[in-house]
Amino acid sequence: MEKKIALIPGDGIGPDIIKQGVRVLDAVAKKCGHVFNYETVLAGGCAIDKFDNPLPKESLDTCLAADSVLLGAVGGPKWDDVPSNKRPEKALLGLRAGMKVFANLRPAVMFKQLSAACPLKDEIVGEGLDILIVRELTGGIYFGDRGRNADNTEAFDTERYNVSEIERILKIGFESAMKRQKKMCVVDKANILESSRLWREVANKMHKDYPEVVLDFLYVDNAAMQLVRNPRQFDVIATSNMFGDILSDEASQVTGSIGMLASASLGDGTGPGLYEPIHGSAPDIAGKNLANPLATILSCAMMLRFDFKMEKEALMIEKAVDTVLDEGWRTGDIAGSDIDAIKAAGKLVGTDKMGDLVINAL
Ligand code: NAD
Repeated sequence: MEKKIALIPGDGIGPDIIKQGVRVLDAVAKKCGHVFNYETVLAGGCAIDKFDNPLPKESLDTCLAADSVLLGAVGGPKWDDVPSNKRPEKALLGLRAGMKVFANLRPAVMFKQLSAACPLKDEIVGEGLDILIVRELTGGIYFGDRGRNADNTEAFDTERYNVSEIERILKIGFESAMKRQKKMCVVDKANILESSRLWREVANKMHKDYPEVVLDFLYVDNAAMQLVRNPRQFDVIATSNMFGDILSDEASQVTGSIGMLASASLGDGTGPGLYEPIHGSAPDIAGKNLANPLATILSCAMMLRFDFKMEKEALMIEKAVDTVLDEGWRTGDIAGSDIDAIKAAGKLVGTDKMGDLVINAL
């Protein structure tokens, strides 16, 4: 198969990790007889520097014309003081809206080899964690009406969802659950919010089409507590934009390894998806060959699975990452308190070497 991939390295460690993602994609392509062509575009701080615009139209157009999009990370202290309408993060919101990717899928996986990095007790995490958070990404309070009164003493934001927005995100939730443990928890605040009550009504109606999925509901305050008290009860969590934003960060911290977690943002399947690690641009380690490229490499696996329907190839990458971890190789961020022993054993590696190891393991 021949595919066109738009690359957005962005800022900070973005270029370091995207380079490794591309090397792994090319190795998979060679092994499996595919051809991946790439076009690199500017977005984020580097685009502000060159075009005075965090997301130039040509960059978005290139992404829309591609079969899939791989993003590193954007932002950094250099652009902290630019006006808010030009901040690097505007590129992310612009990409999500422009590409109409309304569903954010974030697996919160605790790799068994990295259990020492998990802040929870062993008896709570047991054999490991594998939760998929399905977050609505282009609606709700982040996109609703907002404003202030005339004398600036009052402000408001609006949470608003319609049935079709809820249906399309819950469909992704139900279908994901069908491929996993067949459990979905809808997180809301239905004891207070009318929009949450609509989410429940729609979920209950749709449940008839997915009778094998065990559906339940939790208020968001309880869900936040359950994620640290008993995270193994969860399989798929489906929720609104704001609740998903907060819970997915909480879940990723629970796994203890920010440099390992991938994400996919998907639309209705007619356009490309957006794939990116969940971490930021880590300016403190940019260009130093210290960044962990595995979250990006695992994002490439999600790209192959969702955009290209290459399940075998996606599994190949995921297994290669597993093998590398099994063999004891670590970047600094996942070495934990064993770092001295790992270093002494010659298994502490940088960005490039981690890429080499995954390619060798493919
Ligand atoms: P961050 O995720 O960039 O870094 C947090 C800590 O984790 C740092 O110590 C960093 O060195 C480390 N880290 C992150 N990714 C790593 C990796 N792959 N390997 C090894 N260590 C890693 O978060 P931050 O410091 O809050 O933000 C830095 C910049 O990134 C800010 O400008 C922020 O706005 C931006 N940001 C961008 C995105 C995005 O592009 N999607 C997301 C979050 C933050």
